Amino acid sequence: MSKVKKKVKVIKIDVDKCNGCRACEVACSAFHAKPKYSSNNPARSRIRLIREPLKDVYLPVYAGEYTKAECTGKDKYVIDGKEYDECDFCRASCPSRDLFKEPDSGLPLKCDMCEDDPPQEKPLCVQWCLNDALTYEEREEEVEEEVKLEDVEIGVESMVDKYGLQKVMDTVARMAKKE
Ligand code: SF4
Ligand code: SF4
Repeated sequence: MSKVKKKVKVIKIDVDKCNGCRACEVACSAFHAKPKYSSNNPARSRIRLIREPLKDVYLPVYAGEYTKAECTGKDKYVIDGKEYDECDFCRASCPSRDLFKEPDSGLPLKCDMCEDDPPQEKPLCVQWCLNDALTYEEREEEVEEEVKLEDVEIGVESMVDKYGLQKVMDTVARMAKKE
């Protein structure tokens, strides 16, 4: 399979630089408001701050994939003497907590890297993090080219033209048996 270049977008988080100002939450929710910038409700943000000032914990977390089920096993982290709660590092929108759910509809929220119109040079949360706790990086990676369904269809059509439908179907049935 041939390789193609894919752009990978990354936001690096330096928790030591985060002071818990929550500008990232405000900027994200305003950018994704409808109409744009018409409101700024951190509950609608796709980045949330895990914030426990007494433990000196300020941890920005990006919304990832939605998951239907709550985990049965959880992890506890202690880093530099700071103890984090079991779900603090998790990016999932899941049934066990309200994080990363649209407050009115309950629909899951996911970070889209601000790829919405108008195109942004940098994600909004990065632009508004004045402490440089968030930095944006892009890199290129070589990945295997995805086979497009249309390409498969064209390939099958040309085989049918060349060998006839029955012969192609017999071959597929034979291959399926081998598997
Ligand atoms: S990259 Fe954009 S969508 Fe993702 S958390 Fe930051 S502001 Fe929100
Ligand atoms: S804007 Fe930066 S410093 Fe402020 S809470 Fe977000 S990540 Fe932390």
